[in-house]
Amino acid sequence: MRILVTNDDGIQSKGIIILAELLSEEHDVFVVAPDKERSATGHSITIHVPLWIKKVFISERVVAYSTTGTPADCVKLAYNVIMDKKVDLIVSGVNRGPNMGMDILYSGTVSGAMEGAMMNIPSIAISSANYESPDFEGAARFLIDFLKEFDLSLLDPFTMLNINVPAGEIKGWKFTRQSRRRWNDYFEERVSPFGEKYYWMMGEVIEDDDRDDVDYKAVREGYVSITPIHPFLTNEQCLKKLREVYD
Ligand code: MN
Repeated sequence: MRILVTNDDGIQSKGIIILAELLSEEHDVFVVAPDKERSATGHSITIHVPLWIKKVFISERVVAYSTTGTPADCVKLAYNVIMDKKVDLIVSGVNRGPNMGMDILYSGTVSGAMEGAMMNIPSIAISSANYESPDFEGAARFLIDFLKEFDLSLLDPFTMLNINVPAGEIKGWKFTRQSRRRWNDYFEERVSPFGEKYYWMMGEVIEDDDRDDVDYKAVREGYVSITPIHPFLTNEQCLKKLREVYD
């Protein structure tokens, strides 16, 4: 397969290099990724300043380009400019840290793959679900094995997979639902050397989902969580209810 690899941690991060190298053993791999860290940039795109592409060296075995854009920009540039619109699969990652629950909407990693899903190209986001001690190789090796077993044609149109791999021993994989995992924000107030106040956003995670088949519960039990997601945000149940009441 012709595989586009992107990420949001930046082109020099360990996660993307290990992933690209392992995938290149069996596939044609093109790395197109941000020139610096773009974590938590969500699905933003660059339209008011130019985008620059630079060929860079990250490994003997893979062709790599950095761009000044976001993960979504990278996928658009790769598809239209670098890969001549011939892309069989897009993989975004391996991200340092989990991308589950409502974090999916902030995640540049997920948005890189979501951009592919929006182009109707099979796309996968992959994250090592441990920020402090990520296991990039374990996650990348899981993906390689998974790709041998999984039939990509089973994916619905405009649908991608969001994969979170626990660090350490893997018990297997589970297909899961996006959880209601979210954050309780607070702001630490600090003072600059010039006496001005500034703020640093912090947060405590809220994991109170009462359903058994959600992303973070699978990871907590030592399973790889695999959630099919798509860009359509309509709440079908609510739409039905509103039509029943008002139509
Ligand atoms: Mn990241």
